[in-house]
Amino acid sequence: MSQQRDVFPFNAARDLLFPPRCVGCGELLPPFARRVAVFCPLCRTAWETAVTEADANATADAAGGLVYLVHYRPGHADGIPEKLVYHLKHEGDPRVFRFVAEGLSPRLSDAAATLPSRKPERDTNPLLFTYPPRRRSAVREDGFDQAERLAKALARACGGDFANLIRRTHRKAREQKTLNAEERAVNAASSYILADKAAEAVRDRTVVICDDLCTTGATLNRCAVLLVEAGARSVILCTVARTDSRGGGKD
Ligand SMILES: [Zn+2]
Repeated sequence: MSQQRDVFPFNAARDLLFPPRCVGCGELLPPFARRVAVFCPLCRTAWETAVTEADANATADAAGGLVYLVHYRPGHADGIPEKLVYHLKHEGDPRVFRFVAEGLSPRLSDAAATLPSRKPERDTNPLLFTYPPRRRSAVREDGFDQAERLAKALARACGGDFANLIRRTHRKAREQKTLNAEERAVNAASSYILADKAAEAVRDRTVVICDDLCTTGATLNRCAVLLVEAGARSVILCTVARTDSRGGGKD
């Protein structure tokens, strides 16, 4: 298990200059809370309730290979999970990635232990983490790729490996969120290909594909197919949130 420690006193100085704020409500958090706290006590309770609610519906998804923490309800701008997903996409605070990685890590261990496998012997390799890259223009806008940061934070939290296994094709891909389910599948199939040397890296490994949000699963499924065809032993899909269609999602 690798541990990432903040380096005192650099982070103490940073906390004084830029005190950490609650991801849910924006309230100032107590000084020096940066490493552990993401939410104020009130938002923390709301987050834990959202995780419990998502768990009640998660059985079917776990069997289908998707591990996630909460539901994302489009249009619920005030929801705590919605604010956290927004934060991951646009703010990029490392403590928030660490927070979700620590929440997902035990679930991933459980999923890996119960995976159906084509091979009878146990997989003794550490999990291998990767992600579907965003469009370059989106990465330029925010300065980072949240799925990449999530994959790296998870690799650290789980003591696993990280590799860039998937890349985007250069064609002008359409943005997934503007498409319906069928169009998303077609678009995803032509938008992602294996990275160079990915086939060597994935042979007989259990690969975890990480993303912030799963809507129809078209992107994750496309990447899973690529990795299985390349020789991965098994694939686990892992997102922070899954779109809750009961909340009025587009698809
Ligand atoms: Zn709060």
